[in-house]
Amino acid sequence: MAMALHDPRDGYYARHHPLGRTGDFITAPEVSQIFGELIGLWCADLWQRIGRPDPVILAELGPGRGTLMADLLRAAASVPAFRRALRLYLVEASSVLRAEQRHRLAAVEPLFVDGVEALPQGPLLLVANEFLDALPIRQLARGQSAWAERLVGLDAQGRFAFVEGPESPALSLLVPTSLRGLPPGTIVEICPAATALAGALGERFASSPGAALLIDYGYFPSRPGPTLSALRYHEPVGLLDDPGTADLSAHVDFAAVAGAVIAAGTAVWGPVPQGRFLAALGAETRLAALSARVGPEQRGLLESGLRRLIDPAEMGTLFKALAVTSPGLPAPAGFAEAESSGGE
Ligand code: SAH
Repeated sequence: MAMALHDPRDGYYARHHPLGRTGDFITAPEVSQIFGELIGLWCADLWQRIGRPDPVILAELGPGRGTLMADLLRAAASVPAFRRALRLYLVEASSVLRAEQRHRLAAVEPLFVDGVEALPQGPLLLVANEFLDALPIRQLARGQSAWAERLVGLDAQGRFAFVEGPESPALSLLVPTSLRGLPPGTIVEICPAATALAGALGERFASSPGAALLIDYGYFPSRPGPTLSALRYHEPVGLLDDPGTADLSAHVDFAAVAGAVIAAGTAVWGPVPQGRFLAALGAETRLAALSARVGPEQRGLLESGLRRLIDPAEMGTLFKALAVTSPGLPAPAGFAEAESSGGE
């Protein structure tokens, strides 16, 4: 999965422009400007709660076309001191998308880094939308006595094919404990890169002020079943058909992410369904304010865009928001309920 997505010559992200109607998939910030604007206000609010540090690092993982960040910054301008204090850092693997982000966000002179470990010390606000689903997963299959890994090999005709590696008690330990006892044939996905990232954020926020907002499609609690899928021009295609030419992604196990944050010693909130999160942040009020200024056609587009993000049958429930904060802060906006218990 890592090679198919990131090979410097033949990888999907090295060669393709993934996003938008002409790309392979579409994301929330590309559907409605309200998404990034509300996240901008969420960040401004958290900045005030952590004592208005100046400077503050604002980081985004996988910024795509820079749309979320452009909308975020426009909304953040309503809190001028926050807008002045922020220093923008972007984590982006694709050089095609880096160029687009540099251009789109030129006014704030973003700096690029290779990962969260490379962010400077200090107060941090971090956002990531549809980043975790792009991190490489491993699939484990329950065998007769233990778990085995699903690997990619070649069939008799020399074509890529899934094969099962040897069963091993060590692989069983990688399966979430709640799923370990499931019957032979069960497939479970794990994402070591996502739990490593969650652990790194957890460690950072345990000792340094700030918050992260992770939004993605996925499930909570952990559950079995393969979710890895390949998309080309908005249509599902075979996983092994033509590696490097389709986007690969998998549902996020929010329980594994939350568990890694808690193990690192800081606070995690949610996940809450995206529809509920955006509604709690005032999506309808923002829609009304925007609608009052435009004609009927534009109003219809704003309306249908927001519906798509909030409607449970579309992106409202499958997509979820999870927040990580430094300890001792009250519930961040949109996460009114109790702190997450994480785990599985
Ligand atoms: N957040 C954007 C784009 C989501 S697509 C949006 O909501 O529209 C995933 C993004 O993550 C792309 O920008 C992609 O190039 C980037 N990406 C994927 N894997 C990455 C990795 N391992 N390191 C850095 N960036 C990565």
